Amino acid sequence: MLGEGILKGLGETARNFAGSFVSAERLTTVQYPEERAPVIEDTRDFPFLVYDGSDWEAGLRCVACQICEKECPPKCIYIVKSTDKKPDYVGKPQIYPTRFDIDISVCMSCQICVEVCPFEAIKMDTQFELSTTDRFGGLLYDRKELARSNEYYHSIHPTEAAEVDARLAEEKAKSDAKAKAAAAAAAAKAAGTVAAATPSAAKPVTPASPPSTTVDPAEGETKG
Ligand code: SF4
Ligand code: SF4
Repeated sequence: MLGEGILKGLGETARNFAGSFVSAERLTTVQYPEERAPVIEDTRDFPFLVYDGSDWEAGLRCVACQICEKECPPKCIYIVKSTDKKPDYVGKPQIYPTRFDIDISVCMSCQICVEVCPFEAIKMDTQFELSTTDRFGGLLYDRKELARSNEYYHSIHPTEAAEVDARLAEEKAKSDAKAKAAAAAAAAKAAGTVAAATPSAAKPVTPASPPSTTVDPAEGETKG
């Protein structure tokens, strides 16, 4: 029938319109800001830097490798490397960022910085109420403003954060086992060196014998 599709579409619209007054599933809007819709786990807006422990500065996972800075499409990340080192999450001495800024007014929430970070150091926040009248200073976040605890990360992305924790724990266990094996090998080598240097363990010295002479049976000549 001519116009059947239009009538069906209008019927669906009318059903949704009327239903939105009586059906909870159809109430897709809330009276913001008095009411807030729950933030879903996969929500993302702007990046933050994860730290472990209670000291944000000592616990930052970032090692200032600058991969995210290079890969960020609008180039809104700015990093300055340290000249000294501090232990990372596996205890390995690492460079760290003395400066890590993100210009949130330029960031396009693409999450590329998160994808390329090899250290699980940068993640996407769900905080969106960031408007300010200070266009420049107010939206340029330094490392202290960007720092968020691992507990906070768990609170906003529990599934992802649990996977990351498991991965990091596995890497740490591997690193610990490697360090233990290296220490054991070094100790064994040192013990061997000490034993070789101890006179009682050394082989008895035999008096030097005169040069031996051998006869080549084929040629019947004496070699010595
Ligand atoms: S989310 Fe994208 S635009 Fe924003 S800082 Fe990361 S890489 Fe840059
Ligand atoms: S956030 Fe990650 S990718 Fe960026 S500098 Fe730090 S460790 Fe490197």
